[in-house]
Amino acid sequence: MATTVGTTRTQAVEHSVTPAQTHGSVLLHDSQQYVRNAADTLGISTSVFNLINQPDREITVTLPVELDDGRVEAFTGYRVQHSRVLGPGKGGVRFHPAADLDEVRGLAALMTWKCSLLDLPYGGAKGGVVCDPSLHSSGELARITRAYANALTPFIGAHVDVPAPDVNTDERTMAWFLDEYEKRVDRHEPSVVTGKPLALGGIPGRGESTGRGVAETARAMLDNEYISPSQARAVIQGFGKVGSEAARRLHEHGVKVVAISDVSCGLVNPAGLDIPRILQSVQCQPPRLLETYRGDDATMVPPGDILTIDCDVLIPAALEGQIHAGNAADIKAHIIVEGANGPTTAEAEQILSQRGVVIAPDILANAGGVVVSYFEWLQGLQGNRWKLETVRKMLDESMRNAFNRVFLSAQQRKITMREAAYIIAVERVAQAVDFRWSPR
Ligand code: NAD
Repeated sequence: MATTVGTTRTQAVEHSVTPAQTHGSVLLHDSQQYVRNAADTLGISTSVFNLINQPDREITVTLPVELDDGRVEAFTGYRVQHSRVLGPGKGGVRFHPAADLDEVRGLAALMTWKCSLLDLPYGGAKGGVVCDPSLHSSGELARITRAYANALTPFIGAHVDVPAPDVNTDERTMAWFLDEYEKRVDRHEPSVVTGKPLALGGIPGRGESTGRGVAETARAMLDNEYISPSQARAVIQGFGKVGSEAARRLHEHGVKVVAISDVSCGLVNPAGLDIPRILQSVQCQPPRLLETYRGDDATMVPPGDILTIDCDVLIPAALEGQIHAGNAADIKAHIIVEGANGPTTAEAEQILSQRGVVIAPDILANAGGVVVSYFEWLQGLQGNRWKLETVRKMLDESMRNAFNRVFLSAQQRKITMREAAYIIAVERVAQAVDFRWSPR
């Protein structure tokens, strides 16, 4: 059934997994399987399982946007609210040409389990707009964002569903989104989005939070393997908000970052890359791609090559499905810390686990962003200001507690860290569902 609201179409859609093998459909399928396995272990009834494994609400919108040359182009946007059992939906908005509904569904589900695992009062949601930001001017991106915010206004709010930045979106995107939303509802509501600029009620430390949490998780994993930071070598795929911050922080802790990559190329130096120099150089050179780096301390390689470089810890921090059955056997790292959402397919994880590779799963390793988003949300609701030191202290504490819970549970049950993380996360949501909906 489709309803038309002005120029915006909202559509109720089917929830089944499609057989098409896109990264998005594999992500969705794998995450549903992890939930099924956790539900079996916990002895959760089929009716509760069915309730927690399906999205609450899916919204598809068509966004007519005027381009700089006067043409009007129709963009497609999605927002999936997977669960709002524990609190309002929470999750980023991605701008990407390959964004599709299955991808957004899978990512929204991951947010439910991530928020539950971190004991945050949120459900899970995710958004996507099908567009290639590298082909649009800043004015066009502002109009795309405003059209998307406009279309979603009836479905979001500080106590309904709270978007944030994700791939190819940032604090600027959140500023446009917030402004458009507040105009539509005619009230001040800074907690409708997180990841905003400080001037609009953002919180210090949100930008660094996901990468910081990823780096801290990597350090804890190395610690458990008795590898000191100064002996450790890291490879990081993706040099955006998450990957670049993880690289910066690991480098600060003395870890040799021997390879990094973004969509343009990979940079390799077995003796360790000069991360501060690369960061400074790339940040000063729009479009901020690694291929613009001119230092003589790094060899440039195709981006895909870095995944199989010899190292202790591999941090995929780009997109989903990057470590798959086709390359898992060639991965040489013995620790993987998932900075990205869904970077390792279930098939790949099986191959890696058989070889003793330990994986810190996405719903744990990259949860730092949503933890600090929670602080920002609280700040907006309470109308106060948090200090950077407080944010960092509380973030580190949350991440450490979650890590210890998952690690201990994995050891006690003799299962993978992902299995342990899903059991903890699913149990909390299932209990809440049972209390809300059970007639007994
Ligand atoms: P971003 O847009 O800032 O950066 C993405 C990076 O990945 C860019 O450097 C891009 O060039 C690179 N990339 C894209 N395709 C690539 C490829 N094929 N090979 C190598 N590099 C490639 O996005 P981000 O916010 O850093 O998000 C990265 C991942 O982390 C995503 O999976 C996202 O969902 C996840 N994540 C982000 C946050 C957050 O707070 N931003 C929080 C949790 C999880």
